[in-house]
Amino acid sequence: VAPLLAVAAFFWWSRPLRSDNFVFYLPNSSEVLPIRTFGSNAYLPLLRVLNLVGKVDALKEDRKKLSVWFGNTKLELSAGSRKVVVGKAAVTLPGEVRVEDGQWLVPAEFLSFVLPRIVTQPITYRPGDHRIFIGSTKPSTYAVRLEPIPNGTRLVIDFSDPVSFQTAARNGKWILYLGNRPFEPLEQTIRFDNAYIHDLQFDDQDGIPKLILTPSGSGMDLFPTITEGGKVLRADLLKSGAPVAEERTPAQSEGITASDIPSGQGQTEGVIPPSGLPAVSSLPVIALDAGHGGDNIGARGANGVDEKSLNAQIVVRVRNALLATGKYRVILTRVGDTDPGFDQRALLASTNRAIAFVSFHAGDLGFRSPRIVVYTYQAPGESEPQALGPRPLFVPWNSAQTFYLKESKRFAQALQGEFSHIPGVISGNPEEAPVRVLQSVGAPAVAVEIGSLAPNVDPSALVSPDFQRGLSEAAVRALDIFIRRPS
Ligand SMILES: [Zn+2]
Repeated sequence: VAPLLAVAAFFWWSRPLRSDNFVFYLPNSSEVLPIRTFGSNAYLPLLRVLNLVGKVDALKEDRKKLSVWFGNTKLELSAGSRKVVVGKAAVTLPGEVRVEDGQWLVPAEFLSFVLPRIVTQPITYRPGDHRIFIGSTKPSTYAVRLEPIPNGTRLVIDFSDPVSFQTAARNGKWILYLGNRPFEPLEQTIRFDNAYIHDLQFDDQDGIPKLILTPSGSGMDLFPTITEGGKVLRADLLKSGAPVAEERTPAQSEGITASDIPSGQGQTEGVIPPSGLPAVSSLPVIALDAGHGGDNIGARGANGVDEKSLNAQIVVRVRNALLATGKYRVILTRVGDTDPGFDQRALLASTNRAIAFVSFHAGDLGFRSPRIVVYTYQAPGESEPQALGPRPLFVPWNSAQTFYLKESKRFAQALQGEFSHIPGVISGNPEEAPVRVLQSVGAPAVAVEIGSLAPNVDPSALVSPDFQRGLSEAAVRALDIFIRRPS
C-alpha cells in the first residue's frame, strides 16, 4: 500500500494552533471543552463534563450549593469550597469549586479525584494533561529520534500503531496530521539542540491530533516518507537547494501549499553515512517515573487521595518546571493510568540516554507531614556497597545501577538539600533502600518518597499547588547543581 500524504483542507487555517481547550476522547468521537484558568488552576464546566461521561438525571441548585444526581450517585458541591460530597464520601479537591457567569466550574483534578468514583467505564487520564480517554479508547504514542544526514537531519518517529498522515505548511512550520486516532504523547514539546530542527510539538487542542515541526531557520525543505505500514515516519530536513540523493518532492516551507509526497517504495533501509556534518545533539534527557499506575494504586491516603494519581500529578509539575528552563528534554516512563514493569521503566530511561532518572512515590512516613526522603539503590541484603572493579564492557542488565551509585548519591544529596529549603518540609539525609525500579537504570537514579500518605494523615499539604510548586522548583535547582559540578 503506497503511503499517502495529501494537502490539508483550507478551513483549518483559520483555527489557532493552540488554545486553552480540554479534549475528551470518547470511543467514537472527541469533544472539546474550553478551559478557564484561575490562579494556576485549570477549571472545567462541571455539567458538561458529567454529560460527556454519562447523564445528569437531576439537579438542585440554590445560591451557593449544587446537588447533582448522576447515575446512582449524588454529588454535592458548594461554591468557594474544595470539598465535594460523592455519595457518602467526602473528597477534597486541590482548588475550590467556583461559579462563574452562572456556570459551575471544578478544578481539572476533579477528573482524577471524583470521576473514577462515579463512572463505570475505564478512564485514562494523566493529571496535568489537557486530554482524557474514556471507555475502551486506547491512545497511541510515539518515540522520536534524530539521525544525521548530509546537509540536514532526519527526524524518525516510531508510532505504536499505524497512522494515516497528512502534511501542511504554515508560517514556516510543518504540520503532520495524525489521522483520527487519539494520542497520548510522552512529551508535549521536544526541543532539539540542532542546526536544522528546533522543536517538535504535539497539539490536539482543537480535537485533531497533529505534530508541529519548527525548523531552526528558514530556507529548508522537508521530505517525509512513511514506512513499516504507517508505523514509521522519516522526515528529512534539508537546506533548500542542497543536493538530494533520491528524487523527492519537498513540502513547501512557505505559503500554504503542500505537495503530494512520493511513496517510500524502493527506499533503502538504513542511515546515509554522515560526512563532514555539524554534530547533531539534543538537549540532555531527564526521565521522570511516576510510581504505580493502573490497578497498582500504591498507598491510599485520606479523602480519596491515592498514590498513583499523586505521583502522576507531581511528575507533570516537575516536567513542566524542567521544560520551562529550556535546558532539558523530559521523558515520562508511564503514559496515563498504566503500570509498566520496573524493567520497562528502566529501559525507557536507558534507550533515551537519560542523564538522570527520578522515581516519585508517596507513602506512609509517619504522622509528621509533609516530609521528603530521597533514596538511592541498595542491592537486597547488602549493607555496604560492594567495591567494584573497572566497569566491564557489557554491564549485566540487572546490576546496571551499581555502576552509577556514586553519581546517584551525589544527585540524591543535591535533591535532599534543595527539598530541605521548601517551607514547612521535614527533610533529613538521603537513604539507601532496595528500590526495585532503580536496579536496572543505567544512569544516575534516585527515588523520591513524599509523605505522609496514609489513611490517618491529612493529605491536603501534599496535594496543595504551593507544595507541589516548591517541590518541582527544588528539583530543577538540584538538577542544575548536580549537572554543574561533575565529579
Ligand atoms: Zn510507591
